[in-house]
Amino acid sequence: MLQKTPPGELYLSIQNLWKAFGSFLALKDISLEINEGEFVCFLGPSGCGKTTLLRAIAGLDLQTKGTVMQDGKDVSNLPPSERDFGIVFQSYALFPNLTIEKNIAFGLENSGRSKSEIAVRVNELLHLVGLPDQGKKYPAQLSGGQQQRIALARAIATKPGLLLLDEPLSALDAKVRVHLRHEIKELQRKLGVTTVMVTHDQEEALAMADRIVVMNHGVIEQVGSPTEIYRHPRNLFVADFIGEMNQLPANAGNPQTLELGGSVLKCARHSHQKGSRVVAAVRPDDVIPHGEGARSPGAPDTITTPENAFEVLITEMEFLGSFWRCRLSNKRFGSSELIADFSVNAVRRLELEEGRTMMIELPEDRLMAFDLPETEA
Ligand code: ATP
Repeated sequence: MLQKTPPGELYLSIQNLWKAFGSFLALKDISLEINEGEFVCFLGPSGCGKTTLLRAIAGLDLQTKGTVMQDGKDVSNLPPSERDFGIVFQSYALFPNLTIEKNIAFGLENSGRSKSEIAVRVNELLHLVGLPDQGKKYPAQLSGGQQQRIALARAIATKPGLLLLDEPLSALDAKVRVHLRHEIKELQRKLGVTTVMVTHDQEEALAMADRIVVMNHGVIEQVGSPTEIYRHPRNLFVADFIGEMNQLPANAGNPQTLELGGSVLKCARHSHQKGSRVVAAVRPDDVIPHGEGARSPGAPDTITTPENAFEVLITEMEFLGSFWRCRLSNKRFGSSELIADFSVNAVRRLELEEGRTMMIELPEDRLMAFDLPETEA
């Protein structure tokens, strides 16, 4: 299925790409278009084919079928050395016996540049990645985060048209990872280089990508901007993989309604057939907490959709720093509990505590309905 590409100059076009390892199909008919200057993340669970797709783009592992066009040129069967990309791997892959300067200069040495030109470029790159004084050191003398910045400098040294990043942050500890992801994103914007990054970390993808390609079992489940993917997941797999999602058994009602545990709730967008079994889904941060008088007109936090508001019992509360994660029960949820994230402010204002009942509302435009997983359909 060809996905919609945002306006812009097409740079990378993958058409009907298949990859087989023996009888195992790692990629099944992948088609994807990426514009010049875009930052695209391949995101999905382990083994879904992200790295295989990246390696096919680089020519490191040729596809079994299909084409890869880069900047209008068919590169499908070219070896990596004849393609125009820089790559950064999870493991830094710096040469341990070469200084940082020599590591960065590595790709430049066969580019016809003079020694002094190379020295200028290396110096420029060291500044660009924020390590101007580290050129004489060896990789082992740098931290993991610093080594990865050097790997990045090496990858962009020849000003490639395409930057490929294969889980570049996974080996780093959490704080460095968050810091470096901002730096990489900033650098990518500054250089305007078309970038494809493989990650299994949804937060990383949401924070860095212009568009996310969600993959599963060798196919693309959805392509979209971080907000599209988060707000309008195409199916239960995407909804569940990106962010937290409550899932409750329900039946589709008339258009724009769902029946949940015997009550009819408004659900602004669903196209399921009336009576069909579905999964009702709502994100924990979309559950609205209400005070006691919320049903009366004119109350400060009046309920918008009365059908979607009901009382719940708070069975558990967990303080997570910037918000509270609450477990809520109600007969509508059957044996499941609804997870809701409430701000510290709301918890204080409404005096919420474990064992209390409270009023919640599931906003009709945030309540979703999905087909049952195939195993249960
Ligand atoms: P991870 O996040 O774990 O790296 P991934 O999404 O990048 O996962 P791939 O490395 O692309 O996954 O692998 C996709 C599938 O292809 C996996 O089931 C993997 O076992 C299989 N595979 C990858 N390379 C080979 C190979 N050289 N020979 C056989 N099978 C392979």
